[in-house]
Amino acid sequence: MIVRERLTIDQIHSMYASGETTPSEVCRQTLERIDAGNGRLNALLCVTRESALARAAAMDAGIGEAITRKPLAGIPVVVKDNLCTAGIPTTCGSRMLEHYLPPYTATAVRRLLDAGAVLVGKANLDEYAMGGSTENSAFGPARNPWNEDYVPGGSSGGSAVAVAAGFVPVSLGSDTGGSIRQPASFCGLVGLKPTYGRVSRYGLVAFASSLDQIGPFSWNVRDSARVLGVIAGHDPHDSTSAAEPVGDYLSGLDGDLRGVRIGIPAECFAEGLDDEVRAAVESGIARLTARGAEIVEVSLPHMKYVIAVYYIIATAEASSNLARFDGVRYGFRADQARTLSELYRRTRDLGFGDEVKRRIMLGTFVLSSGYYDAYYEKAQRVRSMLVDDFAAAFAKCDAIITPTAPTPPFRIGEKSDHPLALYLGDIYTVTINLAGLPAINLPCGMSASGLPIGMQLIGNHFDEARLLRIASAAEQL
Ligand code: GLN
Repeated sequence: MIVRERLTIDQIHSMYASGETTPSEVCRQTLERIDAGNGRLNALLCVTRESALARAAAMDAGIGEAITRKPLAGIPVVVKDNLCTAGIPTTCGSRMLEHYLPPYTATAVRRLLDAGAVLVGKANLDEYAMGGSTENSAFGPARNPWNEDYVPGGSSGGSAVAVAAGFVPVSLGSDTGGSIRQPASFCGLVGLKPTYGRVSRYGLVAFASSLDQIGPFSWNVRDSARVLGVIAGHDPHDSTSAAEPVGDYLSGLDGDLRGVRIGIPAECFAEGLDDEVRAAVESGIARLTARGAEIVEVSLPHMKYVIAVYYIIATAEASSNLARFDGVRYGFRADQARTLSELYRRTRDLGFGDEVKRRIMLGTFVLSSGYYDAYYEKAQRVRSMLVDDFAAAFAKCDAIITPTAPTPPFRIGEKSDHPLALYLGDIYTVTINLAGLPAINLPCGMSASGLPIGMQLIGNHFDEARLLRIASAAEQL
């Protein structure tokens, strides 16, 4: 599979405007590309062929006018399969939800549809979004279209592959500790995790509720900005969604970087960072300065604790969130259970994969009486110190740059038996979720083996408009 031509929303809309093509035609071509590539790449767990074709056909007549009103009119999209879609399977990459049909649609997906998008499928993921390679999916790993022997990253690997393989111009993922930014980095895409609370989590199957956010994948900053403008904003169904007004994310893109201060935390360029990644990110930074950005040193003194803090807080929340999958309320139920407790145990034993079980056990342990103070409470305290570190850093700069992942993409199977090695790969991304900040992956180079490398641009809370402007100026290089 080679990486396909880079489809963008603007390209498709200008073809609609000129009458060169129609939503039906674009939808048919999308389905053809999926039919040709998905068997190998395993990016999509479900293709909503009939409903997509019908919806697209209904748009054909009025599309010239619709594109002036609806930012995603006639645009094919896929969403990660932990986003609820009414009447369409929502598996979370788990046997537990293999046959689950949600009775409602997630707010972010509903807003895409209201903006005119055509949903063509649901994307593969690590089971319950736990992982960084999409190898934890109960339905087999997704493959990186740049080289199919390599992982596409995760947990939103299928959403990244769907864009990188040219199936669709944009997709949605979820990011609890890097699951949008890291696969974007591994697949050469833009991937945005908004500020915590910027996008409603209603209908996103919860992994770690204080960290989860939904965001877009795309080829360029402009398309991610457009999708953010569609999905952002308060939602009465999610009390943690922010009332903060939604910015104008499309204006001021493609400017220059004069007067912009970029913070570089030395702690993120220390040992453990692969040489190729370091070189690619440093060349990315050098190009920003060539465009007028000013570099300032900032410090994140609590960086060294972030993996431990994240894997305590995320697993604690996961153990609580996943308690609801008991064989009674949702999806899978084990048979041959004689008592209620046996029903729970057998259902959870057969329904969950190894990584999910590992996290439930870890999370239950750190919350148990006697260990709560030693682990969970201490992790929460370090989390607030990290928030203070960022507040001090943003007093000196407009955005911060770090690598997105410490290594280039790795081979399928290379780390699947080494959970700790995978966890360590999350160092630069989990930090951002703990602090609730927005961050975006931008491609910044290629490894010697021909795989993409990305850098992470971090903004201040609810400062997505500025973050996107800086990212878009950087992308022009
Ligand atoms: N890789 C991280 C983890 O395994 C992040 C996952 C995510 O963001 N959903 O927890």
